[in-house]
Amino acid sequence: MDADRSIMRETSRGFERYYNPKLHGEIRLDTNTNVLGSNPAAAEYLRTHTWDLNGYPDTYSGGLREALGELYGLNPDNIIAGNGSDEMLDVIFKTFTNWGDDTAVPFPSYSLYDYFVKSNGGKAIMVDLTDDFQLDVDALVRTKAKVTIVPSPNNPTGNCFRRKDLEDLVSRFDGIVVIDEAYSEYSGNGFIDRVDEFDNLIVTRTFSKAYAMAALRVGYVASNAKLSEMMMCVKIPYSLNSISEGAAIAAVKDQGFIRRSVELVTEQRPKLIKGLEKLGFEVFPSDSNFVLARSPIDHKVLVDGLKARNVLIRDFGSKRRTENCVRPTVGTEELNTLLLERTEEVIDECH
Ligand SMILES: *Cc1c(COP(=O)(O)O)cnc(C)c1O
Repeated sequence: MDADRSIMRETSRGFERYYNPKLHGEIRLDTNTNVLGSNPAAAEYLRTHTWDLNGYPDTYSGGLREALGELYGLNPDNIIAGNGSDEMLDVIFKTFTNWGDDTAVPFPSYSLYDYFVKSNGGKAIMVDLTDDFQLDVDALVRTKAKVTIVPSPNNPTGNCFRRKDLEDLVSRFDGIVVIDEAYSEYSGNGFIDRVDEFDNLIVTRTFSKAYAMAALRVGYVASNAKLSEMMMCVKIPYSLNSISEGAAIAAVKDQGFIRRSVELVTEQRPKLIKGLEKLGFEVFPSDSNFVLARSPIDHKVLVDGLKARNVLIRDFGSKRRTENCVRPTVGTEELNTLLLERTEEVIDECH
């Protein structure tokens, strides 16, 4: 690649490629997808349908927005669907920020926020979470940024932010507040059904995690109808393809699968935490299908040792605030046992 990046947009020059591990059939506890495997209703839909490949998709994914409206008691006009919640995050910044505008981002949180802010010409102002990984609402408000974006439950720390802090933030922040609820099926206390109460709240959600269909790339955003209309006009038409939209509609109608998926995590998470603590990890409180844990041995030795034993977990150990931490997805009973056994092997090898 040409070393001289001055040809690039200024705010994008520092970008590197995203997480992209070379795979050799490893067990993946590194991406927080659903360990029960493919969404069954979506898979059944794909098995039993054919499509007119010559026709464009529904321009604004009307069928999916209707199904989601019904699920949350919202009007379809409150909702926009697109190609993963990552597309929806991009649409938010494209719609509401001008060149050079600030966006306040808590740290540590989702690494892609910085990417979306900068690729839209903006500046990310990092605001540290408190020692117990909660929001510093005063500091976020003080940035006077145009937008702030907070994931709750937070990735990579796993915890939800306090409801009162989120309400406080929405009412005191003089700009758009985005709550990224990628994992809120697991915590069960989202704000999505309350978007009509606020003039500045946007909530994003995804089919990539609890819904077990990351491969199909479907996400959505909810807000009051005024903000939604603005974003709808900015979003690339047809970005959600017909096949994924149909599969997502089928998945919305099978809430039993979501309940089973959440129950599994609720049941297995305390066992995984206990097992990790027994091996010497410091595990942080989680409301998600993953946990952040500080390793008793060097993080890189642990992650590489597990990879050599066919298990992938995500490494956050070189980053500030998550020093020597890793982030495994909560597995099934079998997967967690395997993870704990192999972790113990790697630790033993170190001594
Ligand atoms: C996984 C994840 C998403 C999901 O992104 P998609 O583009 O919908 O796959 C969004 N936000 C956070 C914090 C995540 O961890």
